[in-house]
Amino acid sequence: MTTVTPLISSASPLARDIDGKAIAAQVLEEVREDVKKLAGQQIFPALAVLLVGEDPASHVYVRNKLLRAQEVGIRSLEYRLPDTASQVQVLELIAQLNMDVSVNGILVQLPLPAHIDEAAVIHAIDPIKDVDGFHRENVGGLVQGIEVLTPCTPSGCMRLLQETCGDLSGLHAVVIGRSNIVGKPMATLLLQANCSVSVVHSRSVDAPALCRLADIVVAAVGRPGLIDASWLKPGAVVIDVGINRIATESGHRLVGDVDYASARTVASAITPVPGGVGPMTIAYLLKNTLVASQLQRGVGRVLVG
Ligand code: NAD
Repeated sequence: MTTVTPLISSASPLARDIDGKAIAAQVLEEVREDVKKLAGQQIFPALAVLLVGEDPASHVYVRNKLLRAQEVGIRSLEYRLPDTASQVQVLELIAQLNMDVSVNGILVQLPLPAHIDEAAVIHAIDPIKDVDGFHRENVGGLVQGIEVLTPCTPSGCMRLLQETCGDLSGLHAVVIGRSNIVGKPMATLLLQANCSVSVVHSRSVDAPALCRLADIVVAAVGRPGLIDASWLKPGAVVIDVGINRIATESGHRLVGDVDYASARTVASAITPVPGGVGPMTIAYLLKNTLVASQLQRGVGRVLVG
């Protein structure tokens, strides 16, 4: 057993912010550089984004993804289908994109309208173009430690942690939430980084006590302000994945799963909401598009690491 040194020695009584915007900008710069190198070889990575229906939040997410893609020089193709589109229509479009060698990444914006089977759509995407990393083949590869396309939000959280703590070996990480898109892949990535990992969920007994053992806390629950100072060990590093809309007199504001004001009196570093994990998700989507284009050419992760 190795002895673990404190993560961050903090003389300040308040945790420092982990600046997701700045770190995401760094990732996007890395992607932009790699896109330039590929252009020199006449290779132009392309991302296809499919939006079904009129969900306003999904429209905003897709717009942001397309905008960022354009900024780093990744070609983006937007496909929109109406709410009334059938599952067969969606699957036909995916089959067409799977066959199109000029398309490197396929992203289906979730959630899909209720009459469409989300799992059937995700598993229809060619795993080597599955830039969300949700296909069962990529999930299996991730668990086995094989080079695959890994889900964007957990990948972004890992980068935030590495930038904040350096080597994570031997640290105890608690992931709160066990969803397929955040909690489970997050726990797997932390395990691969040699953390001791606990997963806390809705059926856990005394979640705050389990959490107080953690050097690293990753909250992905969807409950505004659930985690406060009483859940944290002094000096813990806190990654708040939660994005919750709270109604205000003038509209709404976004808050995380962590009670930021309370948690920062005990933690050593914390991601704010907004401006923490959110920007990393898009950055890693574009990074995955590059990785996909490399895997499709059989060159592995040479340019992006
Ligand atoms: P989900 O609803 O699929 O899963 C929530 C998990 O929380 C479940 O596994 C459940 O067991 C657990 N849980 C519920 N109540 C709990 C409690 N009281 N104590 C402990 N665990 C509890 O949610 P998700 O898709 O994983 O998303 C979680 C949050 O992260 C949401 O707010 C979502 O909006 C946000 N999110 C943000 C990004 C981003 O880019 N920042 C990406 C994905 C999700």
